Amino acid sequence: MRKVGHELVALIPISKPSITDLEIRYVSDAVKSGWVSSLGPYIESFEKAFARFCDCKYALATSNGTTGLHLALEALRIGPGDEVIVPDLTFVATANAVSYTGATPIMVDIERDSLCIDSAAIRQAISPRTKAIIPVHLYGHPADMEPLKRIAAEYKLAVIEDAAEAHGAEYRGRRVGGLADCGVFSFYGNKIITTGEGGMLTTNDQSLYLRAKSLRDHAMSPDKRYWHEERGFNYRMTNMQAALGMAQLERIDELQSHRTQVVSWYREHIRTSPSIRLNYVAPWARSAYWMVCLEVDWFNEVRRSAFMNELRQRGIDSRPYFYPVSSMPMYKPAIAPVAAQKSAIGTNLPSYRELTEADVAWICKNVNELLAAIAPA
Ligand SMILES: *Cc1c(COP(=O)(O)O)cnc(C)c1O
Repeated sequence: MRKVGHELVALIPISKPSITDLEIRYVSDAVKSGWVSSLGPYIESFEKAFARFCDCKYALATSNGTTGLHLALEALRIGPGDEVIVPDLTFVATANAVSYTGATPIMVDIERDSLCIDSAAIRQAISPRTKAIIPVHLYGHPADMEPLKRIAAEYKLAVIEDAAEAHGAEYRGRRVGGLADCGVFSFYGNKIITTGEGGMLTTNDQSLYLRAKSLRDHAMSPDKRYWHEERGFNYRMTNMQAALGMAQLERIDELQSHRTQVVSWYREHIRTSPSIRLNYVAPWARSAYWMVCLEVDWFNEVRRSAFMNELRQRGIDSRPYFYPVSSMPMYKPAIAPVAAQKSAIGTNLPSYRELTEADVAWICKNVNELLAAIAPA
């Protein structure tokens, strides 16, 4: 809570879902219909519409983005003894999903501008055990897919796009999710669109789709009920979640253009300089702007914490960039200096549907004041 005059006003959060009457109507319809589990008409319509949205042939709804990634890796038959290359700066789920299969995630460095996986670093990390690469479209900005796909073709590696943060982002005019063997999206509450918890696997490969679909439902035999040829999973989405997702997907253009608008308000109001930067966007990219990214070169973890605490005192929430996955206790250290540096200097600022230009201007005024106050001489 923050105090404005005598009034207590709620903290401006980093993000919150945008729920309208449409979402309420679809979810009520799903609940009232009795189809509350993973059978029901919203699942198929959500999958079909999402495939169309990504210019993909197939889409498969999952219980969340993490299970979507795990399912993709299992469908590609990645397992013990294999290595999968992932960027060091990402949400931990990317690496965890690899480790669930028994394979080893190999963390590599990122590009300074896009914050996405660096192809030169991928090349250096390839070993005879390497089976796949998972580029992450971090904070909504697409990874540079062309050089990465050339390496993948050369070494016969599978490529899974972790598009959990990038619904609608474009790489050279094409939507993410259909740029490689498969893509995985998340519909967690703070993602670009939400189903509460949920995920989606997208692909143009029919056999990959069919295998993932079977594994999602315990690999039950299609002709012999309750007979299972292999060990599968229950990674299904419910009809209620798909109903929420369907409403969100119908509104995605509106949500997306508001996100773009919010970023342009930030660009207008934050005093940037070569050492204080907002989201980078490559000339070949259209970012989905999942998060507003503020990088300050003279930040370190201590200065950044001081900045974030002060901001919170003034009623504005923020969050630090992810920690490098390779710095966490369950994984091996890696040499990824750019990921380490970016991780220490980046913060994310609020962006959600109800934010107005006045809100953003007020956030920026506080950011400008604080940065001026704590800047080193
Ligand atoms: C959110 C996220 C995931 C996982 O999605 P969940 O739906 O939370 O399981 C995976 N990768 C990245 C990059 C994410 O941001």
